[in-house]
Amino acid sequence: MQCPKCNIALRATKLEQGLSAMGCSQCEGALVALLYYRDWVERTPLSESDLDTPEDTPIKALIGTSEETSTAMACPKCSRLMLKFKISGESDNKLDLCSFCDEAWLDRGEWQLLKMLELSRKMPLVFTEQWQKKLRKQATQDARDNRLLKYIDEPELEKTKEFKQWLSAHPHREHLLFFINQN
Ligand SMILES: [Zn+2]
Ligand SMILES: [Zn+2]
Repeated sequence: MQCPKCNIALRATKLEQGLSAMGCSQCEGALVALLYYRDWVERTPLSESDLDTPEDTPIKALIGTSEETSTAMACPKCSRLMLKFKISGESDNKLDLCSFCDEAWLDRGEWQLLKMLELSRKMPLVFTEQWQKKLRKQATQDARDNRLLKYIDEPELEKTKEFKQWLSAHPHREHLLFFINQN
């Protein structure tokens, strides 16, 4: 098997103790079989170190060291195109999945990113429509907030949101809106 990015042979490696993968020594990407992955999650009890998030390593710093392949990649096993799944709202990183082989490709730093986001034990969640929908909704909301943040500051945005919530729940909101719009 060859690395889908570097075209050099992938070598057996470990993402974690007991979690085998096929890794590329050049780009540091890795192919993980979800079968092995699920088995590893079941076999590995949650350790103390999984629970404490290192507070002094901001996610932003980690994103800086990770890599993201933006172009579609062919599965190293079957050559079919892999599907991309966004990991979180904080970064552009996406996991690539071959649903035919049930294998996932992680670019350099993406395993660390999953750990940081407390997703390393629930990676398949990223591949669900539910997760992707949640991220899209979040992105839409963020874009809306950012448009308004060009004119007002954060505390004003919070105030506006509270007001909007109060207004939309009010039984006479159309009268209130009419009043606001009058000169
Ligand atoms: Zn590579
Ligand atoms: Zn495949």
